[in-house]
Amino acid sequence: MKEYDYLIVGAGLWGCVFAHEATKRGKRCLVVDRRPHTGGNTYCESIEGINVHAYGAHIFHTNDKDIWEYVNSFVEFNRYTNSPVANYRGNYTIFLLT
Ligand SMILES: Cc1cc2nc3c(=O)[nH]c(=O)nc-3n(C[C@H](O)[C@H](O)[C@H](O)COP(=O)(O)OP(=O)(O)OC[C@H]3O[C@@H](n4cnc5c(N)ncnc54)[C@H](O)[C@@H]3O)c2cc1C
Repeated sequence: MKEYDYLIVGAGLWGCVFAHEATKRGKRCLVVDRRPHTGGNTYCESIEGINVHAYGAHIFHTNDKDIWEYVNSFVEFNRYTNSPVANYRGNYTIFLLT
C-alpha cells in the first residue's frame, strides 16, 4: 500500500485546503513547507496576546455565501473596517474600505 496519495508542497491556504478536502475524501496527504509554520503568507504570530500578520495585513473578502460558510467552519471571523490614513505633503486623507 502506498504511504501517501498526494505530496503537497506549500502549507499556505491552497495546500491546506487541498489537503483538508482530499483527506475528507479518504486520501492520505503529506504537506511540506520550507517555512517553519503553516498558513503561508496569511500566517500570524502571537505578540503579547495580539495576532500580528507576519508577512503583511490580510483582509478576507467574499460575496459568496458558500465560501463564507466554509471559512467560518474553521475559524470565527471578526468584522473589520480597513481605514488606512495617507499623509501626502502634510494633508491627511482617511480611506474607508469596506
Ligand atoms: C503582504 C500581502 C498581503 C496580502 N493581503 C491580502 C488580503 O488582504 N486579502 C486577500 O484575499 N489576499 C491577500 N494576499 C494574498 C494572499 O496572501 C494569497 O492569495 C494567499 O495566501 C495565497 O495562498 P497560497 O497557499 O496559494 O500561497 P502562500 O500563502 O504563498 O503559500 C505557499 C507556501 O508554499 C511554500 N513554498 C513555496 N515553494 C516551496 C518549495 N519549493 N518548497 C517548500 N515550500 C514552498 C511557501 O513557503 C509558502 O508557505 C496578500 C499577500 C501578501 C504577500
